[in-house]
Amino acid sequence: MTPYPFSSKRAPVYRDVPDEQWNNWRWQLTHRLNSVDDFAQVIQLTESERQALQASDLFRVDITPYFVSLIDPDDPDDPVRKQVIPTADEIQPFTGMMEDSLAEDRHSPVPGLVHRYPDRVLMLVTTQCASYCRYCTRSRIVGDPTATFSRAEFEMQLDYLRHTPQVRDVLLSGGDPLTLAPKLLDELLRRLREIPHIEIIRIGSRVPVFLPMRVTDELCDTLQKYHPLWMNIHVNHPNEITAELAQACDRLTRAGIPLGNQSVLLAGVNDCVNVQRQLVHDLVRIRVRPYYLYQCDLVAGAGHFRTPVAKGVEIIEGLRGHTSGYAVPTYVVDAPGGGGKIPVMPNYLISMSDHKIALRNYEGYVTAYEEPVVYQPHDAQHCKYCQSKQAEPGQSGVLGLLEGEQMFIKPEGFDELHNRGGGMHRLRENAEKWNPLGIGPGTKKKAGPSPE
Ligand SMILES: *Cc1c(COP(=O)(O)O)cnc(C)c1O
Repeated sequence: MTPYPFSSKRAPVYRDVPDEQWNNWRWQLTHRLNSVDDFAQVIQLTESERQALQASDLFRVDITPYFVSLIDPDDPDDPVRKQVIPTADEIQPFTGMMEDSLAEDRHSPVPGLVHRYPDRVLMLVTTQCASYCRYCTRSRIVGDPTATFSRAEFEMQLDYLRHTPQVRDVLLSGGDPLTLAPKLLDELLRRLREIPHIEIIRIGSRVPVFLPMRVTDELCDTLQKYHPLWMNIHVNHPNEITAELAQACDRLTRAGIPLGNQSVLLAGVNDCVNVQRQLVHDLVRIRVRPYYLYQCDLVAGAGHFRTPVAKGVEIIEGLRGHTSGYAVPTYVVDAPGGGGKIPVMPNYLISMSDHKIALRNYEGYVTAYEEPVVYQPHDAQHCKYCQSKQAEPGQSGVLGLLEGEQMFIKPEGFDELHNRGGGMHRLRENAEKWNPLGIGPGTKKKAGPSPE
């Protein structure tokens, strides 16, 4: 049926379920497992798992029969099991732990719309998922049907988007947008498409992984009405790549949706160069491009999944150059407190002089790249792209320094601190002397090219 060598699995307890039911996403959702009794039919629970499943105020557990079937019932360290079945470790607090570690709610002008970057937003459309990841970064809201977004909030989100023309990219997440009722999903996409400045729509979904039968031809027909539409799925381990996932991805890509993968670096699941290499190879075989590998967030419940950041650097060291560039994700740390994603990778730039740079490759081969001695710099005055560039108010960042918008970025309170309590005196009177010539908004004329 599929051109891929990936297999299908069904736990023995589901052997007699007729195919029409097994392959029906509604059947899968209504037969999700969430209690000690449910799991006891499929796997041998450990004491720690039993304890967690009976704890009060546990982050929601719900696993589709399809996904639970991928677990090796005899292996307490199974990488699929660890992602979805809670253990007592989940209840352990740790230094740095937060409820909303990325400060998403602080960056939300209206409920569920996280506007952190200049040109794109994260739009949370539901708190429901097909199954629940134990390390969920949004466990503060996800899983709780009473915390989901109301019609009124949805209208507020759309209203904000309509009035914010710098947003050209809307990333739907949640929760999982593909768990929305089909009609609602269609309406959501249609209403977004009515906003002319929204160029692309992205969906972040683990439905193809937890519930591949939801990716029906009808769903693909709905999605492809709203191109350009991109999708990121979330696979962490090669055991999640099955014939069913391959088929779901095949349908989505045939509907013209480019697929990426975002995985999370998880201790005991995929903190291994060789597991990651197999994962990215299997992903590109099903035409899914590894996009991000995330460092695990400082979120309550995820302490036991965290690895040192060095593990991520080691994984990238083991992929870049060793395998297809298409198969190498960008490893990122999502900044605690809300700074957004920060890429981290090995150093390939070893040294430099005024017109040479020394670089090393993945093998440790060290080379000198001879740079031009004469370079005619890009002429922004005569570049139509530079001239029509949209401002990113207050967010031009380090690029703004390079482009002469300002000469420094100062930590909060910097000027007050360095005033050292002194008042105005004769050497502080002429503030002009601190204005760099040709840089920043306060200056009159640009300096010419500096004399050699
Ligand atoms: C991850 C994220 C995005 C998208 O980031 P990309 O690097 O463009 O994929 C946008 N907004 C928020 C708040 C995010 O966390």
